[in-house]
Amino acid sequence: AEKTRFDFNHVVTTALHWIIKESNQPIEIDLHLPNKLEALGHSGQIHQVIVNLIQNAVDAMRDQPAAKLDIGAGETAKLVWFTLRDNGPGLPDEHLSRVFDPFFTTKPVGEGTGLGLSISYGIVTEHGGKLSIHNHPNGGVVVTLELPKQDPDK
Ligand code: ADP
Ligand code: MG
Repeated sequence: AEKTRFDFNHVVTTALHWIIKESNQPIEIDLHLPNKLEALGHSGQIHQVIVNLIQNAVDAMRDQPAAKLDIGAGETAKLVWFTLRDNGPGLPDEHLSRVFDPFFTTKPVGEGTGLGLSISYGIVTEHGGKLSIHNHPNGGVVVTLELPKQDPDK
């Protein structure tokens, strides 16, 4: 299907509400979105990516008494970016290189398929974008998504 312009803020806020509704712990959310932000692509697929990223962050904060999410998005001349930071335990170095592998999971059987990040990586790559994950120096995981404004297929 053709990539189309879509409301990126709407995709972020609906994904966030969806996850928060399903979660049974209080989470402080610091959300910074510009007034208007449009991206190019398949909005349903990008929604799925953002749901996967937020779900992972919420899962990681399960044992965190003061769970906090920092979410931001914005744009440059060439791309739309999205960033998400949690205050969970972070990722051990030996897992960092494996998180995008299909079926890599540290969750109990029945709770994680290990497919969320590998599918997300595929979607973002197909959009000509970038998906990266690293540990924040002050703790927790930071995930960054970039989507080009130019269709890579054109
Ligand atoms: P799943 O969520 O089903 O385990 P994913 O592909 O979404 O599969 O994630 C793979 C693994 O990456 C997780 O099991 C977890 O070990 C790690 N991971 C992903 N996001 C985070 C995060 N925000 N904090 C800590 N670990 C994470
Ligand atoms: Mg996941």
